[in-house]
Amino acid sequence: AIMTSTTTFQPVLERIAEEIERTPGSGRPADYIPALAACDPRRFGMAVADLDGTVYGVGDWRQPFSAQSLTKVFTLALDLSREGDALWEHVGREPSGNPFNSLVQLEYENGIPRNPFINAGALVVTDRLHTRTGDASGELLAFLRAESGNPDLTFDQEVAASESAHGDRNAALGHFMASYGNIDNPVPTLLEQYFRQCSVAASCADLALATSFLARHGIRADGSRLLTRSQAKQINAIMLTCGTYDAAGDFAYRVGLPGKSGVGGGIIAVVPGRCTLCVWSPGLDERGNSVAGVTALDRFTTLTGLSVF
Ligand code: GLU
Repeated sequence: AIMTSTTTFQPVLERIAEEIERTPGSGRPADYIPALAACDPRRFGMAVADLDGTVYGVGDWRQPFSAQSLTKVFTLALDLSREGDALWEHVGREPSGNPFNSLVQLEYENGIPRNPFINAGALVVTDRLHTRTGDASGELLAFLRAESGNPDLTFDQEVAASESAHGDRNAALGHFMASYGNIDNPVPTLLEQYFRQCSVAASCADLALATSFLARHGIRADGSRLLTRSQAKQINAIMLTCGTYDAAGDFAYRVGLPGKSGVGGGIIAVVPGRCTLCVWSPGLDERGNSVAGVTALDRFTTLTGLSVF
């Protein structure tokens, strides 16, 4: 039966958490940097934020975790709000079908990355935001604090240092695109900004709230407009088609919502006009998506009947 309480999401969250607890955990934490490899893969938290700012949660939903690529959604929104369609001359919006840190397509496409959610595309977006604001990661942090209402939300210096010490692949992406003239700032400056951005530590509650502007068609928590209605639609569409690495087709099939995953085990998702979700569990499948996270979102849309389809 469909669970259609219009007043609270709490019962559906509790049911999902029980189901997740009963199924043996699978998946492994990201191991490309030591700071993430140490995470316990059995942790699980999930939060739903209503458009009025009410948050429902279960499990480790108040525990900060490494946001990683979830931040790519927010830097995209912050840059798009400033420069509008000119951004699309520098980054595409097609799914890549390749892993998040792939270099191969760049050479065929003149240093223009496929989309803003693979690493190459996110580097371009951060570069452009940095040029426009003088402090891309600072802009991101201020935005996340304001939308979540959590002034303690911050970067994890250890994670940022760990990324930097193991950053050869991202450095290669940055330099390669710079050789085509598609990077504005010195590559080391860009990498420092990008690694800080990825190191944001935030909870499911914080991130569900910070994503709400996408469910409110571009309107921020204080009622001001960040994006036009069309731009909010565009970002949701890119999340649906490109937000979960090279598994976006399977995610759309199972969950039916715009979503973005990160290698820290988080996934944010949007029900436009209704609510936002954030789920966290560090055990990843071979494509880098949280195993319990995708299952939980799949169950949420099945049990509530809420999806964009
Ligand atoms: N900091 C990670 C990297 O650039 C982000 C990866 C991710 O979450 O997809 O390698």
